[in-house]
Amino acid sequence: MEMTATLPAWDRRWALFLDVDGTLVDIERHPDEVRAEPELRRSLATTARALDGALALVSGRSIASIDRIFAPLCLPAAGLHGLERRDADGRVHYPAGYADRIAAARAELVGFVQSAPGLLLEDKGAALALHYRNAPALAAECERHMALAEQAAGTDFHVQRGKMVLELKPSGQDKGTAILAFLEEAPFAGRRPVFVGDDLTDEDGFRAVNARAGLSIRVGPPRDGSAAHIVATDVAAVRDWLNASTESIHVPAS
Ligand SMILES: [Mg+2]
Repeated sequence: MEMTATLPAWDRRWALFLDVDGTLVDIERHPDEVRAEPELRRSLATTARALDGALALVSGRSIASIDRIFAPLCLPAAGLHGLERRDADGRVHYPAGYADRIAAARAELVGFVQSAPGLLLEDKGAALALHYRNAPALAAECERHMALAEQAAGTDFHVQRGKMVLELKPSGQDKGTAILAFLEEAPFAGRRPVFVGDDLTDEDGFRAVNARAGLSIRVGPPRDGSAAHIVATDVAAVRDWLNASTESIHVPAS
């Protein structure tokens, strides 16, 4: 894929989608400590106004965690890699029918977790995470119970394995599906999508905007196999580019 290293000139007809960690803020050792500086919040708010509100954050974090970083700014957002999405009117959307099925899976796990000290069941709303960091000897038991929980949830769920954690989540949701869902609604509909991200999980977003004749911008050194068409060197370059938006496009008074 041909890559260009120049960030595109601003256009007020864009729908802008921005990843958070590694894109707007540098990745920290303690992700819970990340906060957006006032300058970044101002710049996002101004850019959002210039785009008539067509700016959304698209992150692997939960929406609650995104809000904590950018408070008091509250933007349209997709959290947990597209599992939850807050539209421009503030309504939060989850995959259809997920709630009962997560509840069935939770019911399957609760007894086991209560009977085994050291285990932690984290309810993310649209996903369930079983942490066994403090009880590593129970890894196989956790796998077995998570498989039962997956069965209880039914089809279209899958278990994702992390470091000392098993996570049950709905399948078929990613940053790309979240972006496409925004593009069905005002004020995003009818605009040219632009997505900026840095990570492997952002590739779904790059492919989604490419398929809509949009612009895909990847932060960091060029990577083989990336679907992104444009490279931004680092977080600072993205921030400079955001700041430039206010000089390049008319911003209505707030
Ligand atoms: Mg990122």
